[in-house]
Amino acid sequence: MLRKTKTAILSLISAAVLCSCSQTAEPPKSDTAAYNRDVFAMDTYMSMKAYGENAEKALEDSEALILRLESELSVTDENSFIHKLNSSENGTAQVSDSAAEIIAKALEIGKKTDGALDITLYPLLKEWGFTTGDYKVPDKDVIDSILAGTGWENVSLSGNTVTIPEGYQVDLGALAKGYTSDSIISQMRTDGVDSAVVSLGGNVQALGEKPDGSAWRVSVRDPFAPDTDMCIVEVRDKAVITSGNYERFFTDDSGKSYWHILDPEDGCPADNGLVSVTIIGDSGLDCDALSTALFVMGKDKAVEYQRREGNFDMILVTDDKHILYTSGIDFTNISSMDAEVLSLD
Ligand code: ADP
Ligand code: MG
Repeated sequence: MLRKTKTAILSLISAAVLCSCSQTAEPPKSDTAAYNRDVFAMDTYMSMKAYGENAEKALEDSEALILRLESELSVTDENSFIHKLNSSENGTAQVSDSAAEIIAKALEIGKKTDGALDITLYPLLKEWGFTTGDYKVPDKDVIDSILAGTGWENVSLSGNTVTIPEGYQVDLGALAKGYTSDSIISQMRTDGVDSAVVSLGGNVQALGEKPDGSAWRVSVRDPFAPDTDMCIVEVRDKAVITSGNYERFFTDDSGKSYWHILDPEDGCPADNGLVSVTIIGDSGLDCDALSTALFVMGKDKAVEYQRREGNFDMILVTDDKHILYTSGIDFTNISSMDAEVLSLD
């Protein structure tokens, strides 16, 4: 947990660096004045920056929106729709529109990724201690018996009604922040802002471009030195969302690390050759779902998936310290690792 907090603070600093790039040399005019707001929610530090005369109201509305979504989507808040679903006697609950939209996306991506994204792993995450910070490596037979009671394909959604089998528990942690950044960006638009950037624990989403007409410069952290930036991507109107093995992890007595993204195949931390996956695309929700799923799938399947679907860009970092990225992004490597463009065939 100490590690998580430190990383979160650093991501805030990183967001500050990112924001400092957006200042122009000229003194700000009223339509280019920047407004900032920091919020701690969803167990992470969030920072928002918006420009222009409507920015203050947009930030106020965005903060209220974040707090509303947190209370709707949290797996631990006793009043949340997800908590109601997980504790309901017959495994059925009416959920909010937001929760229903996220669950629909989770089931869609669960299907497309052959179950790499599985929102029913919560009982296993608890057993490993990732929900409390009280970490342990469970025995294999315990993992297997819990795993037998999971499976995204057994979640059914009809309108806003969700049904899960007895003993199942759903957790939207893999998608909630991406949905939240999408929602903030549309709130900003509604409030009349056309230039803004948000960083939700290092997951960034940009609205428009900087007031000087240049692209937003977003840094992605080095998974081998998470206090350091690995590369810069320049984006307009895009989400840049990363899943890594360095965000929430613990180390056993022998020095082996265990992290919070589990492989639904064996119920253990996904260890398929990747240490970080960054997805760049139009929708924060899609990018968040895919960052987790492709991390689980590993390099070859991730590349195959990206070629097949083709509607997003990505940056993969392998456990043997290579960066691979798709050609659709404006990418600058600032690490000592080599970076290779993924060929199209
Ligand atoms: P972060 O929340 O650090 O940005 P992710 O978006 O990758 O990272 O989400 C990781 C979270 O998703 C975990 O903390 C856990 O709650 C949940 N999770 C872990 N493994 C899976 C999986 N295979 N499918 C769906 N959700 C998962
Ligand atoms: Mg994710």
